[in-house]
Amino acid sequence: MTGKNKPRLERELRFLSEIGAEFIFVPEGKRRPLIKGPGAGLPPSGAESPRSHIQPTGNEERPKVLQDIAQKILICTLCPLSQGRTNAVPGEGNNRAEVMFVGEGPGADEDSQGRPFVGRAGQLLTRIITAMGFKREDVYITNIVKCRPPKNRTPVREEIDACKPYLISQIEAIAPRVIVSLGKVATDFFHPSPTGMTKLRGQFVEYGKVLVMPTFHPSYIVRNEGNKELKKLVWQDMKQVMAILSKK
Ligand code: URA
Repeated sequence: MTGKNKPRLERELRFLSEIGAEFIFVPEGKRRPLIKGPGAGLPPSGAESPRSHIQPTGNEERPKVLQDIAQKILICTLCPLSQGRTNAVPGEGNNRAEVMFVGEGPGADEDSQGRPFVGRAGQLLTRIITAMGFKREDVYITNIVKCRPPKNRTPVREEIDACKPYLISQIEAIAPRVIVSLGKVATDFFHPSPTGMTKLRGQFVEYGKVLVMPTFHPSYIVRNEGNKELKKLVWQDMKQVMAILSKK
């Protein structure tokens, strides 16, 4: 470990212990979280990442289909959000991801970079993904609306409806086994209900053939930094996702 990497490693270890993930310290290059409970046994990221031992489904069209969807999103003018954007944010990740993370909509950082979850909430999401044994590139990350709502307000019905076909096409192309819906807007997309996230989180719902795990939005956790319990609850939800993915 170089001195430069030390603070980062310390931060990651602190994060793992905060969320209640148990781990052992092993030499650099061989590190992986030791997950107790249902997530045990999930392969680590990198060469042995969860997808790497799975044969491609033979859907050669998938990258092209996703690229075409992204092209359409980048020039979309279907709703007024297009007028305020710097960049549309189609989403990014593995075309054959087993798990998709779906947030609400781009914020300022995402709007300026054209990439999903790259701000503070995004850093937290990346840590959660890493703690699950994935790299960001192993999963697919996108949002309900692909353009930033003004002042980060919640997207309204017409905006969500206008953007809906893009997300549906992305899900159809990727065909993930599990979708993690981050927060109420994303959860309502898959499972509309008047129930709040505190009750919805942690219980799979079905969206066609895909299992959806509702959990708290990373921005909510960042806003409530002092509430360590929230991170632990999210980790419990992610362990359920990992248990599904390691059942193959
Ligand atoms: N919040 C979201 O819902 N999506 C992002 O991409 C970033 C923050």
